[in-house]
Amino acid sequence: MDHRSPALEGTCHCGAIRIYVRRMSRTLTSCNCSICRRYGALWAYYAASSVRIKAPKGGLSRYSWKRKVRAYYRCRHCGCVTHYRYRQKQRDTIVAVNAVNFEPAALAASRIRHLDGAASWKFLD
Ligand SMILES: [Zn+2]
Repeated sequence: MDHRSPALEGTCHCGAIRIYVRRMSRTLTSCNCSICRRYGALWAYYAASSVRIKAPKGGLSRYSWKRKVRAYYRCRHCGCVTHYRYRQKQRDTIVAVNAVNFEPAALAASRIRHLDGAASWKFLD
């Protein structure tokens, strides 16, 4: 990420993890799959090169299951889910940022779309 341009900053609840993006995504994805519905996340997708995650050493813990396609990261201290990324190298170009870690005003202009990740993998709206 170009450190000269001003960035939008999101943080986990305790502030240990900081997420920087240049602008909020216009579309946020709310998904009903087994993990997203539990996390209550709103995903904003970015090219990995345009996101910076700042974390103290050992400050993030991660979770993957079954085929371990994605790794979900959360603050080890306060537990807030901050982002996920794909674990296969060839798909490691995308980072999904959990936009709920940004101030509500930063999300106000974004549209929330509901993805049926539990079944059809289609948007419901
Ligand atoms: Zn935290």
